[in-house]
Amino acid sequence: MRLFSFASLRVSLLLVALAFAAFYTLHQYQFSRAWHKTLQIVVFPINGDGREATSRYIASLRSKDFSPIDAWTQREAARYHLLIERPTQFTLGAEVHEQPPILTDAANPWASLWWGLKLRWWAFLHTPDSASNLERVRLFVIYQQGEKNQALPHSLGLQKGLLGVVYAYADTRQAPQNNILIAHELLHTVGAIDKYGHNGLPVFPHGYAEPQRSPLYPQRRAEIMAGHIPLSRRRSVMADSLRRVIINPLTAQEINWIEAPEAHLPGSQKITLSAGLPNPY
Ligand SMILES: [Zn+2]
Repeated sequence: MRLFSFASLRVSLLLVALAFAAFYTLHQYQFSRAWHKTLQIVVFPINGDGREATSRYIASLRSKDFSPIDAWTQREAARYHLLIERPTQFTLGAEVHEQPPILTDAANPWASLWWGLKLRWWAFLHTPDSASNLERVRLFVIYQQGEKNQALPHSLGLQKGLLGVVYAYADTRQAPQNNILIAHELLHTVGAIDKYGHNGLPVFPHGYAEPQRSPLYPQRRAEIMAGHIPLSRRRSVMADSLRRVIINPLTAQEINWIEAPEAHLPGSQKITLSAGLPNPY
């Protein structure tokens, strides 16, 4: 009888913990997509290659290095007549001296799910301040020198837990493109979906900034969830800064800035929403 009571108590405690986690996640989801208050985003830098030059770069970082992203969300929000003037505010957090878990097989949904759980636990253990995470986004940015002709690992953003891991170059000249990657992962945390295909090319029309443009190529700007500017059907180039990146109506709908993307498209141009999109990473 005693044993039974003890087991019941453990089950009850577990159920309470699960219910708490579910409500916590639901509040994070609703708050981050309501856009009633400025969404706070904290960047926690990590030295990804252990090099001295990377340490110096991280030591030189300031919150204002991320303010171009705030200026960009402000500019894009104005285009969609969002009521809040400043949708986001980035600040720099303390350096983290641990490496987050790595997702080895992004194409495998079970591996992605398991990685997501491990990342949430890792972030719970290694967030270097004690501020509440209920209403803020944490982005762990892993800086490294980068090798010639070697791409950085794929950055990832998680909607559940408002978390992201971004791989970036520890180089001032790369800062504008780092900010594109950071903005991209931020938008994943609030519901946006990738809009490029397996070949890296933006998907038409979802991944285009101006799908109605005539002639279609070359495009002048990139859509944030594609990141690349299509120059032809088979060629695209990464945008050099957020000045050449926009949020298109489909992404605006995914992040809950607008209800119906059709209303924001010129003329008779319609985006087919039912077409298949790549996985959310
Ligand atoms: Zn992505």
